Amino acid sequence: MSRHPNSRKKKTMNETVLETHNLTRYYGSAAAVDHLNLKVPRGCICGFIGRNGAGKTTAIKLMLGLLEPTAGSSSLLGCDSAALTPAIRQRIGYVTEGHRLFRWMTISELENFQAAFFPRQWDRKLFAEMIEYFELAKKRKIKHLSNGQRAQVSLALALAPKPELLIMDDPTLGLDAAIRRQFLEGMIELIMRQGRTVLFSSHILADVERVADRIAVIDKGRLRASCSLEEFRSAVRKVVFTFADSPPAQVDIDGLLHCRRSDKQLELTLVGADDFEVAAWAEAVNALEHHTAKMNLEDQFIEFTAPANRRKLFQWEET
Ligand code: ATP
Repeated sequence: MSRHPNSRKKKTMNETVLETHNLTRYYGSAAAVDHLNLKVPRGCICGFIGRNGAGKTTAIKLMLGLLEPTAGSSSLLGCDSAALTPAIRQRIGYVTEGHRLFRWMTISELENFQAAFFPRQWDRKLFAEMIEYFELAKKRKIKHLSNGQRAQVSLALALAPKPELLIMDDPTLGLDAAIRRQFLEGMIELIMRQGRTVLFSSHILADVERVADRIAVIDKGRLRASCSLEEFRSAVRKVVFTFADSPPAQVDIDGLLHCRRSDKQLELTLVGADDFEVAAWAEAVNALEHHTAKMNLEDQFIEFTAPANRRKLFQWEET
């Protein structure tokens, strides 16, 4: 369970398994999801990230056909979300926020109940292995489990039918760091089975950074970025320029997200600026030296989705 998914082979990455076309949902006069055009290729783990109220849960429910769109459409495994057949639904796993499970059942009873919906594909061995891995007893009732343990049962239930596409809405909400890691390792385990795809929303960017190989950033219902994690990580950067005297008053460089100034330094967060453009700007403003500072995904996400930067769209499509 220690393999890092970011390094896995991407030979199955050209088929799209989840696609939305101008997907839109209004609540009253406010758009919760606004002309969302998202494509998720087969075989990836896609982190679906956005601030509170950005529209992740609404988008996920629309994708699964649990909510009706105001406009636009979406499809999963090539089937329109509004008309997902039982056969297609059997190929899709869904883990909801809060892990709603029948509280009066034991883990075993819940397994039997769920397995009945997947007569041909339920993997009892996998379910047993996961329950054992999470150190749970099958005889325990759901109501006697902690939140984290319920999350683990949810994951085992979602994985046992061996879904081709697993969609999870904030699955690790409220879990401690160790349990989150176990949970995510379970997810990696799934994806290592060739051709499986995961879309998961999360607020814990360190987790997304660890397991995702793609990200989709949603902000006020709109898709702000959809690309490989690698691409996003290298597109948003912080560059520190040092000057002999005060830095220039005007900062005129493409892709500027944020500017912080001190006595003799300018710290710029940029999107989409390459080394050549940065070096050319440094020369034009007579900087003595410039270097790229480290940013983790969380820093990048915060700068990228700062309200002041809302109009600066960075959109990267697979070539
Ligand atoms: P969080 O990260 O906080 O869970 P989210 O990204 O999942 O948020 P959504 O739950 O999809 O966001 O909500 C998007 C927007 O739609 C929010 O402004 C929310 O207030 C609004 N919204 C969601 N559900 C409803 C509803 N049933 N009625 C009215 N407005 C709603």
